[in-house]
Amino acid sequence: METPAFLDRDRPDVPDLVVPGGVTPFYLQGRPVRGRLVRLGVLTDVLLTRHDHPGVVNRLAGKALALVAGLASALKFQGAFSLQIKGDGPVTMLVADCTDTGALRFYARTDEDALNTLLQDTPNPTDRELLGNGYMALTVDQGPDMERHQGIVDLAGDDLAAMATHYFKTSEQHACWIYLCCTMTDAGWRAGGLVLERIAGEGGTHVVGDENADASWETATILASTLSTKEVLDDSLPSATLLHRLFHQEDLQVSQPRALAYGCRCSRARLASVLEGFDTDDLDHMCQDDGQIVMTCEFCNHDFRFPRTEITPRTL
Ligand SMILES: [Zn+2]
Repeated sequence: METPAFLDRDRPDVPDLVVPGGVTPFYLQGRPVRGRLVRLGVLTDVLLTRHDHPGVVNRLAGKALALVAGLASALKFQGAFSLQIKGDGPVTMLVADCTDTGALRFYARTDEDALNTLLQDTPNPTDRELLGNGYMALTVDQGPDMERHQGIVDLAGDDLAAMATHYFKTSEQHACWIYLCCTMTDAGWRAGGLVLERIAGEGGTHVVGDENADASWETATILASTLSTKEVLDDSLPSATLLHRLFHQEDLQVSQPRALAYGCRCSRARLASVLEGFDTDDLDHMCQDDGQIVMTCEFCNHDFRFPRTEITPRTL
C-alpha cells in the first residue's frame, strides 16, 4: 500500500488539491464518437503558479496539462500518459503527464534570452512560435509488466491542439478532434479542453451503417467547434450542461466524471536514492559550501536539501 499523500512526511509541502469531475467522459449513442471534456478549474492556477514562467508559457503549459488529462482518462489500465515536446524555440522543453487516477504535473524549460527577443516583436506568440521546430512524443507507461508505448512525430501546425491532432493522425492512424484553452481569468489561471475520438463501431449499442459514420463524425466535430473558451473555463457552468448544449441532438450519453489532482510523485527517499547512485567525487562536486546537496524537483519546483555527510554512495 502506498502511503496516502497527507500522511507522507517524505513528500514536499505541495498542495494536496483534488478537482472532482475534472474530466467528463461521454459518447454519442449509435455514432462512432466518444470524447472527454476537461476542466482543470483551480488546479490550473495551483499547478502553473508553482513555477515562475511568463504568461505566454503558462498558457502553453495549461493547454498541455488539459491535453494529457484528456488522454490519460482513456487509459484502460493503471499507468501514466506523458507528453514531451522538444524544440528549437524559446520553450526548449515541455513535459506534462497524468496518471490513470488523474494526478497531473508539468515542467517547462525556457531560453530566457530567446523568449524575451520573441516577446519584443510578438507579444502574443503562437504555441509554434514558442516551441519552434522539433518533435512531440506521447508515451503510455503502464508499469513494469506492460510494454511502454511511445510515438514520436515532428511538430506540425500553429497550436498544441493541431500538433496533437497531427500526432494521432500520423502516428496512430486515429482521427481525433482536439480543442485546448488556457487563460488568466478573474479567478486565476484556468485551462480545459475537449477531445473527440473517432472510434471503430459506435459509441453505444445501436449500430449505424458505415455510410452514416463519416457524416456522424463530421456533425460531432462541427458541433464541437461551436465551443467557446469562455464556456470551457466558466467554473459555474456544470460540465454536463455544457456537453448537453453541444450534443443534445446527438443522443449524448454522459459517463461518470473523474477527478484530477495535483500529482507530483517526487519524494525525499526517491531523490536520496538517485544521489546514492553517484560516486564520491560527483557527490563532493555537487556539494555546496554549506555542506548541502540541493536537488530540485522540476515538476513541483521544490528544493530538497541533503547534508553531504548523510549520502553514502551505493558502490564505494
Ligand atoms: Zn515534485
